Amino acid sequence: MQKLSSKEYKNEFVQAFDGDESGNLRPRQTPGVLYSKALPTPVRRPALLAWSDELAAQLGIERPGEEDISILGGNLVTPAMHPYAACYAGHQFGNWAGQLGDGRAITLGEWEAPDGKSWELQLKGAGPTPYSRRADGRAVLRSSVREYLMSEAMHCLGVPTTRALSLVSTGDQVLRDMFYNGNAEHESGAIVMRVASSFLRFGSFELLAARQETENLRKLAHWTISRYYSHIGGDDKVLAWFREVVDRTASLMVEWMRVGFVHGVMNTDNMSVLGLTIDYGPYSFVDDYDLNFTPNTTDLPGRRYAFGKQPSVAYWNLGCLAGALAPLFPDTKELVTELEAYGDLYWSKYYAMMGGKLGLDQVKAEDHELIQRFEKTLTALKPDMTIFYQRLMALPAEVSSEQQVAEHFRDSLYRELFAGQPESLYQLMLAWRERMGRNTGTREESLERMRRSNPRFILRNYLLHQAIQELEVGEDGLFRKLQEAIRKPYSDQYDEFFVRRPDWASRKAGCSMLSCSS
Ligand code: AMP
Ligand code: MG
Repeated sequence: MQKLSSKEYKNEFVQAFDGDESGNLRPRQTPGVLYSKALPTPVRRPALLAWSDELAAQLGIERPGEEDISILGGNLVTPAMHPYAACYAGHQFGNWAGQLGDGRAITLGEWEAPDGKSWELQLKGAGPTPYSRRADGRAVLRSSVREYLMSEAMHCLGVPTTRALSLVSTGDQVLRDMFYNGNAEHESGAIVMRVASSFLRFGSFELLAARQETENLRKLAHWTISRYYSHIGGDDKVLAWFREVVDRTASLMVEWMRVGFVHGVMNTDNMSVLGLTIDYGPYSFVDDYDLNFTPNTTDLPGRRYAFGKQPSVAYWNLGCLAGALAPLFPDTKELVTELEAYGDLYWSKYYAMMGGKLGLDQVKAEDHELIQRFEKTLTALKPDMTIFYQRLMALPAEVSSEQQVAEHFRDSLYRELFAGQPESLYQLMLAWRERMGRNTGTREESLERMRRSNPRFILRNYLLHQAIQELEVGEDGLFRKLQEAIRKPYSDQYDEFFVRRPDWASRKAGCSMLSCSS
């Protein structure tokens, strides 16, 4: 175990690429460079609110004392660190946004873990950088709690994600207009230390393509491949790499659909080239199953980033990445072929995933219809997605009547069933039971598959909302409880949370829908 303050950090990104080393934090365009040196701006009174022991153990990081808490709050930078804000661009809500960059994230250095793997340690909310544009570079407690808990929750669900090591309150106030209605208020400030092997985004490549910095683009592509995709060999490395980004992105979308996660802001600057969930903002799990649900108020009325649209938006975003990589190819034919493989890849992964949720031993073409019937039924009944699948696992071996089936799923429903719906649910259960009966292996094995695929605890927005409200008045009971519960999403150990979203939460701002204000 090593201390944050005594570590010899690696700084390979800044060594490999040109950066603006001036340290000037004035907002500006930074042509020709991939990063700008940016020191965190000190805060009044950093205090540790949460620390991820499990991640720290994996990285070999000692629990922070006073000195290391100063690092987590941005008040101390050691000589071994080379803090910088990365420059990237992106498409936001379908429109080219030009240069964006880390407006409030500062990478302190690369931490080499005992297994030799390297991790970027990044403070989010540590003050302005040249990419802050008109904003303050800070983050409020509410959004920091959300990022901290949800990164770790997604990791424990088995979904690829950036991680969170610490949550620190700053002792400073931050001014935010949460509802974008002219009523700005002071909120507590906080800083999360995020961890990932890399925070490179689709937008990192789009930036260089837009600037026609083709040599930098080529260099970044090969650097990414040699560090994070080192198994890729051959002559056509960039093409093989893009193929793998397509594959990983398809897998990530399938994982989001499996657990019912809605990111909310799938702009290309929020898409990781490692296939990780990145940049937790106005996200949500779906409670009642609704492919049209978007948690982001800024995403209305278009619902570009709605739950069911995520897989196709990912494809659109991959198209932007392909466009950015195009200058590295004599023509776009091969890139387009790889991009077009996305649809089939997604669907084959999707059906395999659904097979797991439904407990099927394997998914053959003739099973697709049953899977689609489940989709249709969920769309029509709008049950709580998580509770529905848990109830499915508990369905009695003999289903004998519409009433019995309707009663069995009652706890998952947010409203009464319409005429004809108990009948179709009953027929679906008969069809599913019949198909399960044809599984090879035991019933217990089928159930185990379902248990692994269907979370029982999900970090619902209203729980986060309650935990944050408590924290704001200095109580951390629910926050601590949620920190434990996220570690066991597939167990029944935290069944006190195994209930539908309460009615009040569907109407309350910050519980079902959120703004980007953070
Ligand atoms: P996001 O939608 O959170 O991914 O942010 C989009 C862009 O706005 C990124 O370049 C962020 O760094 C920047 N940004 C968001 N909030 C702030 C803030 N409070 N201060 C500075 N930059 C910000
Ligand atoms: Mg972002």
